[in-house]
Amino acid sequence: MVLFERVIEMSYKIELHCHTNPVSGCSNINGRDLVRCYAKAGYSAVQVTDHFTSAFFAEHEFEDYFYGYHAARIEGEKSGVKVYLGAELRYDGCANDYLLFGVDENFLRGAKELLKGPYSEIFAYCRKNGVLIYQAHPFRDGMQETPAEMLDGVEGYNMHPGHRSRNEKAIAYAKEHGLNYLSGSDAHSKEMVGRGGIIADSLPEDSAGLRDLILSGKYELYHEGELL
Ligand SMILES: [Zn+2]
Ligand SMILES: [Zn+2]
Repeated sequence: MVLFERVIEMSYKIELHCHTNPVSGCSNINGRDLVRCYAKAGYSAVQVTDHFTSAFFAEHEFEDYFYGYHAARIEGEKSGVKVYLGAELRYDGCANDYLLFGVDENFLRGAKELLKGPYSEIFAYCRKNGVLIYQAHPFRDGMQETPAEMLDGVEGYNMHPGHRSRNEKAIAYAKEHGLNYLSGSDAHSKEMVGRGGIIADSLPEDSAGLRDLILSGKYELYHEGELL
């Protein structure tokens, strides 16, 4: 006899792009409050993507980078929101930003040594370690095109309300070059929480699981509000 289990359909909303104060000096919300806001907004998980730059490490220890992530995790355990370690990397002499998926502390320790560039070395390091690299808001003012073969994808929907990200152009670019594209809020404040992300019917355990989910393609993009 075959027993059929009743499948309970669940869906999980996951933020892929947000910033905590003070690790991201441009953010005005700390890791604890950020996760509280995401819990309220109905998210099951949040990837913290604080700015990972030479400017930060010129003034801080390596360990300081994880301050917001740890604060978010502690709150996440209380409020039932999974918190993943991510990063938004910018290397010296270029204004482009890159979202990384599947990082851990060890990986970032090595990445810190590559912040001088060139990009090709950063890309090779990501590939070697199974980390996905997506160009964030690739058509915002001041951005430079990254060769498509040196990207896993782009942020198609960047929902930051304070920048003109030209999302439609980013999505068209991704389609034209056969690149995957994602969605993120790029939240830096309470008001910016919960405008983007993905919706999946499985909830990754950790950053590597989130990377695997993205690779699987088993999710839908979520975004709300105007496309800027
Ligand atoms: Zn920022
Ligand atoms: Zn950002």
